[in-house]
Amino acid sequence: MADSCRDAVIHLRWEHIAAGDVTAAAGRMVRLDGWLTGMDLNGCHLLLIEPPCCPGCRPGPASSRVFVTGAAPLQSGPASLIGVLGQTAEGHTLTAARPFGGGIGRRRLLASAPLVCLAAAAPAVEPLKLLQESVTIDVHSHAGRLLSVRTNRTFTPVADSMRDGGLAVVCLAIVSDAPTHRLMTDHRIHPFRNPAPGELYAYSHRAFARLHALATQQGMTILTDVASLQRARSDQPCVIVAAEGGDFLEGNPERVEEAYGQWQLRHLQLTHYRVNELGDIQTEEPVHGGLTDFGAEVIRRCNQLGVIVDVAHGTLSLVRRAAAVTTKPLVLSHTSLTNRPRPFTRLITPEHAKLVAGTGGMIGIWPVASLFPNMAALAAGMARMVAEVGVDHVGLGTDSMGLVGPATFDSYAALPGLAAALLAAGFGVADVRKLMGGNYARVFAASMDG
Ligand SMILES: [Zn+2]
Ligand SMILES: [Zn+2]
Repeated sequence: MADSCRDAVIHLRWEHIAAGDVTAAAGRMVRLDGWLTGMDLNGCHLLLIEPPCCPGCRPGPASSRVFVTGAAPLQSGPASLIGVLGQTAEGHTLTAARPFGGGIGRRRLLASAPLVCLAAAAPAVEPLKLLQESVTIDVHSHAGRLLSVRTNRTFTPVADSMRDGGLAVVCLAIVSDAPTHRLMTDHRIHPFRNPAPGELYAYSHRAFARLHALATQQGMTILTDVASLQRARSDQPCVIVAAEGGDFLEGNPERVEEAYGQWQLRHLQLTHYRVNELGDIQTEEPVHGGLTDFGAEVIRRCNQLGVIVDVAHGTLSLVRRAAAVTTKPLVLSHTSLTNRPRPFTRLITPEHAKLVAGTGGMIGIWPVASLFPNMAALAAGMARMVAEVGVDHVGLGTDSMGLVGPATFDSYAALPGLAAALLAAGFGVADVRKLMGGNYARVFAASMDG
């Protein structure tokens, strides 16, 4: 066992570097995933925790970068490298590095936490089977062409791909402000006109009706209670009714109750691409200083009724007040982590993420191909969020058929690949279950409670 330990590649994670917890790996062959910069004049690369925001930007703190020298030329971009771990006064080093995947031979890849030999590890897990036996949840989606409200186009298959990929539950979200925003020449979505009174209310009712039609046509049950969610498995895919944007409320708090009763709404995202009556958004200049008093009133109503409050798209100030107001865990359904936020980014900082996690809530990671070109990169992105907020506070929010650019994967049938990548990244079975739905299920139960 000691010999197999010595030959093994240790799968190192950034959280270990941040925690100074890598003594056991010093001088050993390790694998580390990140973003590799081009070579400098000394023949050295930097492996970074996340892509740099621009060519001129300075690398982050020592805990978010490792100096790399290659055994052979290395390509910049997303990288999974193996090499020998060392340390200098300036930080950690990876020498004789090469891409992981080729040439690893029969060496055993070890799980990363804790950094001990797990050579006689658990038997291999079949990823699809693992998902099929779990409450798996996509916490934010517009799958099935849900958003074609005005054109009323036929739905594309959702339930079939969920069955194929082991997804039990999809939080399907209507988009309340859709008639008033569009993609502009700066490649960002902006509002372009104010809605007429009653317009977004009427539009959202058509959208909720379309959501129900999709569920009915594809034989999916609409989940409204905790027991049903806990029983949900992918052989009978289910739906949670969600709304992206509280714009349909038009300032009337009693419409939360109405949507709860009439449309089985159980998940309400306060804001979207329009600065609405509830608060400020990440993609426009702030107007309200965060969450409005009306937004706070809506949160209280959601807490009383058992409707999950989703703060995706909201500003940091909005999330700060929402976290103070809510008595139930918050969700932030689709984003990813950044340590260097650009203006108007939809990504969130560790501080922002910790506010959500601090309520007992969870954050859904977005499979955006420009950030995460493959499942390994997406799993690494989830791991980076886990390193900030813990494994109980992260999940998957695909924004399927709502993304502006390409997605990491196009069909739920690909989800076993994500489960496999999470296992390969060092997460155990129990943690994969949490990340693939368990954490949202916990928030759902807490939201319905009392
Ligand atoms: Zn969104
Ligand atoms: Zn969306």
